[in-house]
Amino acid sequence: MASQTLDILKPYLDPTQPRDALIARIQDLKRQRNAVMLAHNYQVGDIQDLADFVGDSLELSRRAAETGAEVIVFCGVHFMAETAKVLNPDKIVLMPDSTAGCGLSDMLTVEQLREFKAQHPGVPVVSYVNTSAAVKAESDICCTSSNAVQVVQSLGVPQVLFVPDKHLARWVGQQVTTDIIAWEGYCPVHQRIFPEDVLRTKVEHPEAEVIVHPECPEDVVALADYVFSTGGMIKYVRESPCMEFIVGTEVGIVHRMQQENPDKRFYVAQPPGFCCEGAFCEHMKKNTLERVMWCLEDLEPCIEVASEVAAGARRAIERMLAVG
Ligand code: 13P
Ligand code: SF4
Repeated sequence: MASQTLDILKPYLDPTQPRDALIARIQDLKRQRNAVMLAHNYQVGDIQDLADFVGDSLELSRRAAETGAEVIVFCGVHFMAETAKVLNPDKIVLMPDSTAGCGLSDMLTVEQLREFKAQHPGVPVVSYVNTSAAVKAESDICCTSSNAVQVVQSLGVPQVLFVPDKHLARWVGQQVTTDIIAWEGYCPVHQRIFPEDVLRTKVEHPEAEVIVHPECPEDVVALADYVFSTGGMIKYVRESPCMEFIVGTEVGIVHRMQQENPDKRFYVAQPPGFCCEGAFCEHMKKNTLERVMWCLEDLEPCIEVASEVAAGARRAIERMLAVG
């Protein structure tokens, strides 16, 4: 036991070999616990490198639905881990830091959604997965940024309530004939991507293609060559013959882009002189390798969802997954 404790301390005691012992310990614990480690594209590089699967919200939901592991270590934000728990009520779902929330998800409570529905009786609700399980349980179907258009079209109705992201709602509305009544929420991180930063970066790198996330404001989307979910961006930069990209989303995604495409160049559109203060999601960065190790050791923090809420949320999520 004493030598094990010393091994755990090694990264702190020997700064020349900072990560090896920690990584080895996590790998050991993953085996012992029969755990799978899922990570979102915005996670810190160390976590992405160690994860069994890295992806966007839809890809992670599908992985969570399919896993045979007994324990899921979810490296992302709370609504994502909650989705994994809803799909796996009998499994242990751990979050390295359970305070990692989402500013967009916080913009709509279940009480506000009930009131919104009461103002538009009979209109189906499409909720972006960036919502609490309670909001999902009050919704007809969920969507992510990669399937929102297909989800709305699948309903075959003239009008939907779309919550909570007004920017995603607007972008979907431009591609469907359905009338979209949007909740006025937004992602505080993507809201800080400004058109002048995209334009300035484009002047500096005129050959670069501009790819942005649909959570960006309208004047930023208007400057984009392509609009994708984070998973869509990863796929696009891999397949495109272009060698330079201006990326309009959270900075963490550049780690994977650069790793998978060492010869290509990626520029984050942010104010001049900024390092991390631009499109930086502080919640996504709360998970660290140390916390991954601790949650596997302690089997907590564990995500729990009340069974009545989980049943409603599961219906909306599974309906989304069935859309394909
Ligand atoms: P993706 O589904 O595109 O990964 O987006 C999740 C998210 O939170 C974007 O801010
Ligand atoms: Fe939520 Fe925005 Fe962070 Fe995505 S980037 S998790 S939408 S706060």
